[in-house]
Amino acid sequence: MTKLLEVNDLVVNFALRFGDLTALNGISFDVDSGERLGLVGESGAGKSVAGFSIINLISKPGYIASGAVLFEGRDISALSTEQMRHIRGNRISMIFQDPMMTLNPVLTIGTQMVETLKAHRPKISRQEAERIALEKLSQVYIPSPEKRLQQYPHEFSGGMRQRIVIAISLLTDPALIIADEPTTALDVTIQAEIMDLLMELCTTQKMGLILITHDLGVVSQTTQKIAVMYAGKIVESGPTHDVVAAPKHPYTQGLISALPQGLHGGKRLNQIPGSMPNLTSIPPGCSFHPRCTHAMDICIQHTPELQTDETGSRQVACHLYG
Ligand code: SF4
Ligand code: MG
Repeated sequence: MTKLLEVNDLVVNFALRFGDLTALNGISFDVDSGERLGLVGESGAGKSVAGFSIINLISKPGYIASGAVLFEGRDISALSTEQMRHIRGNRISMIFQDPMMTLNPVLTIGTQMVETLKAHRPKISRQEAERIALEKLSQVYIPSPEKRLQQYPHEFSGGMRQRIVIAISLLTDPALIIADEPTTALDVTIQAEIMDLLMELCTTQKMGLILITHDLGVVSQTTQKIAVMYAGKIVESGPTHDVVAAPKHPYTQGLISALPQGLHGGKRLNQIPGSMPNLTSIPPGCSFHPRCTHAMDICIQHTPELQTDETGSRQVACHLYG
């Protein structure tokens, strides 16, 4: 069976004057219809670059150096600009942290929704477009959608704006949603509501979801699979429940012990010392070694490969295993 999305050994470089910098160093993952994957790691791990490479929108000087992104079995790098435009915003939608990156402050919600639909379906009538807009606003639980269509983005709260962005992303019935820190700007209660909404939509509409976030707490409550990223690589992956219950990689263990008790509110406990390396100075061997309390000589000399465990469901890249 063809997977909805398959990312195979993807390498993304940034071509700079002094040479190429590697932002993604051979990452692989897949997402099926109705499946929710969390891409997690601190800022600078390469999560957003991974999201943008799926829709072939890495900003210059970034480029896909090797590997492949297959969407519904088709290699996106082999598609024409026209074919890619059709997939982007039609079969694949993207949701960002700041709803105002998607919403135009000077147009009503109704106009923006109708225009979006018209861009993808030029022959659609205004009446039909409005009918669909109302349907999508109801799906994301916006009260009195008829009235809301006439309003401007500033007339909504942050949480409501993000619901509208989700409604807009649903207009074309996408097969996959990539949500990059969709709730980071919102308070905890609203965060939970938005994530519940996304989960419900994935289930009812059989959509795949890639949730990109630094917040392992959110990922643990909303996804079925997880891939932990560090310095452009996946260092651990597997079923979310198993990984969170018994993390293997010292970096994943660090992320979990940095979570506030009970995953809600409170202050962070054991921060991982040090910080994510800059792309220009990725340490040799295991790139996590300067921050790892288990580091051994081999960790500085040899880069650990991502290895699958005996259950076949979990992978980890660390010399402590195998
Ligand atoms: Fe730590 Fe070594 Fe494992 Fe890297 S390979 S996470 S340095 S023990
Ligand atoms: Mg990011």
